[in-house]
Amino acid sequence: MSERTDRHLSRIWEPETETLPRQPLEALQLERLRALLDRLARVPFYREHLAARSVGAQSIRTLADIQRLPITTKDDLRLHHPLGFLAVPRHALARIHGSTGTTGRPTFVAYTARDLDIWSNLCARFLVAGGLRPEHTAQIAFGYGLFTGGFGLHYGIERVGAAIIPAAAGNTRRQIEIMRDLDPEVLICTPSYALTIADGAREIGIDPRALPIRYGHFGGEPWTEDMRREIEDQLDIQAFNNYGLSEIIGPGVSGECAERTGMHIQEDHFLVECLDPETLTPVPDGEPGELVITTLTREAMPLLRYRTRDIARLDREPCACGRHTARMSRVTGRTDDMLIIRGVNVFPSQIEEALLRVEGTTPHYQIEVTRPGTLDEVHVKVEIRPELFSDRMDQMQALHERIAREIHTVAGIRAHVHLVEPRHIERFVGKAKRVLDRRARAD
Ligand SMILES: [Zn+2]
Repeated sequence: MSERTDRHLSRIWEPETETLPRQPLEALQLERLRALLDRLARVPFYREHLAARSVGAQSIRTLADIQRLPITTKDDLRLHHPLGFLAVPRHALARIHGSTGTTGRPTFVAYTARDLDIWSNLCARFLVAGGLRPEHTAQIAFGYGLFTGGFGLHYGIERVGAAIIPAAAGNTRRQIEIMRDLDPEVLICTPSYALTIADGAREIGIDPRALPIRYGHFGGEPWTEDMRREIEDQLDIQAFNNYGLSEIIGPGVSGECAERTGMHIQEDHFLVECLDPETLTPVPDGEPGELVITTLTREAMPLLRYRTRDIARLDREPCACGRHTARMSRVTGRTDDMLIIRGVNVFPSQIEEALLRVEGTTPHYQIEVTRPGTLDEVHVKVEIRPELFSDRMDQMQALHERIAREIHTVAGIRAHVHLVEPRHIERFVGKAKRVLDRRARAD
């Protein structure tokens, strides 16, 4: 058996680096972090900020010393629009992508040829971990353009040696026709678009389960385990999650292996911290925090401790797949959504997680925060399933207590729980408004 076939069967694209034990992996990170600090001296923003703190490569003895280094935010990137963070001469660039923010102007991200080469490899790693093989055909229903999703996955698949159908985003009917004509085994898109394709198939009388797709690689937006089950059930596929953001590189920061117990962070290229968004100190493994990412190998636009505003948990236990890299959970929220209740950081996603543990509740809930006196109070309104709505006070009381207990366990706060009848909570088109913060602002 050739080495090339072997690494597909073991589902590890680069075994020599992907399965490095923690100690040599961390030694490599430390070496790359020091080298990065030397390169950052070419970026005026970093030169200034490192000098202001009198820190540099010489001050980094252990990985924990990273906490002495300055943070980078999206606002810093905006202030140095368009390419103020370049660490190489302009003529050394090979490509420029961008993320379109809600504010209009895109944030640009630049790559050298070596950056693009590494990026393709990182995408190949999670694709192979999620079942891609050279004999497969993959249909990409992601936008091609400034957005990093389409091109990132495209070159990752090409690196693996599989065939690509660059269908690009939209025109669901056409996507389905292409699938039926060309029999791709792999679908690349956002998770919500996978469900749109299933709907579209049913509309024209095709059973979505009869489509040729066997594996799906989904990213570009947050999704839930419930949604994964729904996609897998509707399309009869295995669905894999991957994570990335354009400021850092695009897709390829992390992705799931066959175990699907979190996304393996490509730690030889990214140093990921999980920090309390208020104090910027590390949270213990397993606790939710903001992912803060340092690019260890990027040439064109390296970033130091970039605040992603994405909330997730880290798990550094070895995985059954043979990789020792830290795994991150799904992104469960954004720091913008965080509430501080009596000094405790609470994310609406934690309330949702608590409710998921209690049978009989529905995904419809609303959180209201008030401050009647000097202390915050949290009220959680929860719809319960019609069949559970009961006249029996003792049953309702038990359900009530169970929910309050789960919220306390997951989020660490005592909440006033209000059980309401089905369809009692307002429905929203698009993003649900889960939180009503009625506390008077001090300012
Ligand atoms: Zn694994």
